[in-house]
Amino acid sequence: MTARTLTRRDFIARLAALAAASQLGGCIPQAAPTKFEKDPFTLGVASGDPLPDGIVLWTRLAPDSLRGGGMPQSAVDVEFLVARDEAMKDVVRSGTTSALPELAHSVHAEVAGLEPDRMYWYRFRAGGAESPIGRTRTAPAGDSSPRTFRFAFASCQNYTQGYYTAHANLAREDLDAVVFLGDYIYEGTARGNVVRDYARTGWGFTLADYRDRYAQYKTDPDLRAAHAAFPWIVTWDDHEVENNYAGGIPKDDLHKAALLQRAVAYQAFYEHMPLRGPRPQGPDLQLYRSLSFGDLATFYVLDTRQYRSPEVALCREQDETPSGYCPASLDPGRTMLGAEQRGWLLGGLGGSRALWNIVAQSVRFGQQDSNPDPAKRTFDGVDNWMGYVADRQAILEQFARTRNPVVISGDSHVNFVYDLKRDPSDRSSATVGTELLGTSISSEGDPVQPATQFDPSVKNPQLRFFDNHRGYVRCTIDRARMTADFRAVSTVLRPTATVSTTASFAIDDGKPGARRG
Ligand code: FE
Ligand code: CA
Repeated sequence: MTARTLTRRDFIARLAALAAASQLGGCIPQAAPTKFEKDPFTLGVASGDPLPDGIVLWTRLAPDSLRGGGMPQSAVDVEFLVARDEAMKDVVRSGTTSALPELAHSVHAEVAGLEPDRMYWYRFRAGGAESPIGRTRTAPAGDSSPRTFRFAFASCQNYTQGYYTAHANLAREDLDAVVFLGDYIYEGTARGNVVRDYARTGWGFTLADYRDRYAQYKTDPDLRAAHAAFPWIVTWDDHEVENNYAGGIPKDDLHKAALLQRAVAYQAFYEHMPLRGPRPQGPDLQLYRSLSFGDLATFYVLDTRQYRSPEVALCREQDETPSGYCPASLDPGRTMLGAEQRGWLLGGLGGSRALWNIVAQSVRFGQQDSNPDPAKRTFDGVDNWMGYVADRQAILEQFARTRNPVVISGDSHVNFVYDLKRDPSDRSSATVGTELLGTSISSEGDPVQPATQFDPSVKNPQLRFFDNHRGYVRCTIDRARMTADFRAVSTVLRPTATVSTTASFAIDDGKPGARRG
């Protein structure tokens, strides 16, 4: 949560690095290989954004995964196959797509013509090599009334701070999809307690840096297994670009360096995620979208970074303001979502006919008082929704008129469950929704402090649960309730670990707020 500081020397160094990166495209094209000497499918396979009739299939050709990929500067044909059986005998769809050097030889095959609510298996072929087989699942038909939908959500997988024991266990769950809420990579050099280091030393915010970083994360077999097991629905947080960055900046010369950095970071993100097109255009990538699973659930996937107003500085007088907020956080002109996305979300929730409306986004939504003094209150989460009160309040007002709204969040590296009050500062105010905030996969390593930081009933009665293990959250949505199991791994300091449920919560249809169950 440190503020961004950039010295003049850093700034010039960064500009030089970006200029060098932008010249990479000038290499002389070479002929495409007909045969690979090394396995080009080192980064595995993935699928994402399920529709009733289709899915996105992803891979990236990278025989030399940690040093730029090791591919020639030419397009390579990649064949994809989709089958109804694990042995890939009953192939129902196939085709050929082009892996382009300007997109790091990534492949995004948007397959259509599939049956709804069905499991499929898929693989890729290129230059005589075959990829591992992935498993995926289409969404139920739009006019259907599914009985259940099972998913897990996760976030924050700092590679250097722990092994992906959570992903190993997540891959063995029985799920329809995985929702990933950001901090897929961490930029920069290794920090904190380093359990395993990056192969490449140094960091310059170049396209090559971001690409090699994604590639190194995907060298982890447990992450690849989690991708190969289920379709993923992804959004990002700050570390896909830089710690605590705010993207809503003017597109002028003054912000040229920040815009260039965003452009390369967004491109590398797209290149490594199972996302539908269009590909990013410079510093713009439309990431917010909704996905529906019959009439049972609609997921509103938010982008809380690209359009947000700059973070307010922590203010000294904050502890003395009656609201507990820094006055700047209450400025109605500030936005977390930007006008367009905010209108889209409020309109979508307003017109929704889904039984459950899940808002999937990166940062803490609920309000939490961090002041231990019982006579004072402090809401100092300037990087989360406490720094963007106007947008949060507009959503809470809409939640009061929405069927079963549930916010799922990441970023905090701990588990929280909140009852969302229409007026967050009034404990007698009606509960209009529920927030389930999931811990990190590996970021910050094994917990060091005890699992109860403070007594939430005194200062934060809306806080129903706190836990600081590493893991993920497994959810089941049915016609009567949504349940959430907080899954914790025994350690991330070693490559293997057991998983257990630390707590389960249920939200009943028509009754916002969680009950322990
Ligand atoms: Fe994080
Ligand atoms: Ca974050």
